[in-house]
Amino acid sequence: MSPRSYLHEARRRVAPKRERIRPIIERLAAAHPDATIALRSQSDIELLVAVMLSAQTTDVNVNRVTEKLFAKYQRPEDYLAVPPEELERDIFATGFYRQKAKSLRGTMQMLLEQFDGQVPRDLDQLVRLPGVARKTANVVAAELGTPQGIVVDTHVRRLSQRLRLTRQDDPVKIERDLMRLVPREDWGRFPHLLIWHGRRVCIARMPRCEDCVLTDLCPSSRV
Ligand code: SF4
Repeated sequence: MSPRSYLHEARRRVAPKRERIRPIIERLAAAHPDATIALRSQSDIELLVAVMLSAQTTDVNVNRVTEKLFAKYQRPEDYLAVPPEELERDIFATGFYRQKAKSLRGTMQMLLEQFDGQVPRDLDQLVRLPGVARKTANVVAAELGTPQGIVVDTHVRRLSQRLRLTRQDDPVKIERDLMRLVPREDWGRFPHLLIWHGRRVCIARMPRCEDCVLTDLCPSSRV
């Protein structure tokens, strides 16, 4: 059965989403106490770089690349001190390396010129950085302890739909629905909970409903 079929299969009667959201968060937090960002970083700059490099590739791949990268590049100046081709080579394995290198250099330049070399916390400022889209900005702001939105990736989108927390398909509209529903103090951890649950249990092609802690809260449950 295709992933979409599961959406159309959704017919079990459950409580309204406003009543379900807190138990959903609590149960997922208990089931996935290790649900945090999988990208490794040890500073704000490293976090920003890792998230920028993670577009169109896996977190495992980014961690492999950044292990060497962060030993060589620590400050924004370091990314500008080498020829563009050298930076491209150093991030090659993350894919789209030309565009990513250009974005990294542009971002580091702007950080130095406009933000004192620091990563801003404000979403409006983060999205002004070259190559930093709303999703990247959301991830960075949340990890820096100041979530201003809810990250919607492929797992968050699929699970929000299966759990009927949204009827939307467009990530921007899904985020808007989630921001109205999820308590503000949970905006940072909520996407991680859905992402880990999506990787381990509510898998795209074959959700493992029999092992899921949300069966009585999920209209798409198969058990
Ligand atoms: S019961 Fe759990 S695994 Fe099954 S569709 Fe719902 S959230 Fe996904």
